[in-house]
Amino acid sequence: MILVLLGPPGSGKGTQAKRLSTEKSWPQLSTGDMLRAAIRIGSDLGKRAKSFMDKGSLVPDEVVIGLIAERTQSPDCSQGFILDGFPRTVPQAESLDRTLASRGLATNRAVLFEVDDSQLVRRLSGRRTCEKCSAMYHVETQQPKALGICDQCGGKLIQRSDDLETVIQNRLKVYHDQTAPLVGFYEHQKKLRRIDASLDIASVQKALAGSIQ
Ligand code: AMP
Repeated sequence: MILVLLGPPGSGKGTQAKRLSTEKSWPQLSTGDMLRAAIRIGSDLGKRAKSFMDKGSLVPDEVVIGLIAERTQSPDCSQGFILDGFPRTVPQAESLDRTLASRGLATNRAVLFEVDDSQLVRRLSGRRTCEKCSAMYHVETQQPKALGICDQCGGKLIQRSDDLETVIQNRLKVYHDQTAPLVGFYEHQKKLRRIDASLDIASVQKALAGSIQ
């Protein structure tokens, strides 16, 4: 199963990708997590990506295309993988199709997480992320057991620099301008399913499971 999770920032793709990954043993490939890891270790790639990410803009296509082309060749991807936050532009999707076709593969399904912008702003501005394992929490709706500490790994919870309200608006605009056209792209390929991602985590998990049957 090669699964694309499509949807605006804050729609819960990362949360659901982690759950599905645990259940099915398909790795979660998050370009956002890969780029943040590159920033943490101070690599050239990280330095290049940081200025785009801090503004809420997309990093150049060739950067993320290269990351995914390499990562999907790992042995752990042989039974399938979950793309979380990639592709985000039509050229990325076209490049993904070409890369997969050259290996005799294709995307099986793209699932669109639908949520209103007003709910996304509330979710993102209250979001806290573990700096070690990237588990997500929320200051009101999903608090950790101990304040500021990840339940899963004991890491420190931080507010991502791009979850600040000033940056959120740009991320949503970027989504509508550059990523939303992928809905038509996958609809045209007859691979798109839509789920109501405004619901609670368990209900979205159930809907996602149903959409990949
Ligand atoms: P995310 O964690 O998926 O919300 O991504 C955080 C940021 O990383 C985005 O706002 C972009 O700056 C960058 N990023 C992640 N994935 C991509 C992608 N596929 N294409 C371009 N930029 C990306």
